Amino acid sequence: MHRDFENKVALVTGGSRGIGRAIALELGKRGATVVISYAGNEAAATETVKLLADVGAKCKALRFDVADTEACSQAVDGVVKEFGRLDVLVNNAGVAIDGLLMRFKDEDWDKTLDTNLKGAFALMRAVARPMMKQKGGAVVNVSSIVGEMGNGGQAAYAASKAGLLGLTKAVAKELSSRNIRVNAVTPGFIDTDMTQSIPAEMKEKMLGQIPLSRLGSAEEVAKSVAFLASDAASYITGEVLKVNGGMYM
Ligand code: NAP
Repeated sequence: MHRDFENKVALVTGGSRGIGRAIALELGKRGATVVISYAGNEAAATETVKLLADVGAKCKALRFDVADTEACSQAVDGVVKEFGRLDVLVNNAGVAIDGLLMRFKDEDWDKTLDTNLKGAFALMRAVARPMMKQKGGAVVNVSSIVGEMGNGGQAAYAASKAGLLGLTKAVAKELSSRNIRVNAVTPGFIDTDMTQSIPAEMKEKMLGQIPLSRLGSAEEVAKSVAFLASDAASYITGEVLKVNGGMYM
């Protein structure tokens, strides 16, 4: 394994499960010190920390709600204080609350936008200063194919993920002169807890729309995120990398 993240410190939000855990492990295997955040699933977070330790990575788990902007800024301050730097931020934590527009509740709209979009804003705002001081850094935002295509029954989720793409490009432009790159990935249908609840019949229908004829794995998303966060992507910023098996081109 090429240890291209040696001496680098990464913060991966929502690293307790699914795509976030796979990203944390990919970065950890490649030499990074990895701080994962999680919302409340202590058992899953502990398991990720164990898996990271097993691959020899220095690691830590922090519990905070990414929708709480003050908590985001405290978390970043804490990471910089403890590890001396912060090179990579992956805004992966997210929620998908589905429901038809006419019946969708204000509180579900707010929770979706606050978690998926405001959280990413707050964490990018918090990492900007330490990354500027270090004269470089990389942010990868985990958006979704749904932010590109839309999806009936997912108005809030689609809005949050489309918003994240605009946010990615605006911040990429703003921080580019400081050698801070900001990119996004847009996963298609990935086999995690988030997609477990999709009824079998609907899954079957979705597979018919995916040229590679299968769901993606969290590891496949993780490799794309790691690429964008790595020096191999040193001339890439403001980019949106689709990881969707060809479902949307
Ligand atoms: P998941 O298995 O449901 O895991 C969600 C993660 O986010 C967990 O670590 C969870 O922590 C954390 N989280 C949720 N709300 C949070 C909050 N308010 N504050 C802090 N952490 C919070 O999800 P996933 O499928 O891995 O998805 C990860 C990202 O990829 C999400 O942004 C999702 O929208 C995006 N995505 C997923 C797919 C897919 O098909 N799965 C496709 C496109 C995009 P706890 O463990 O503590 O609950």
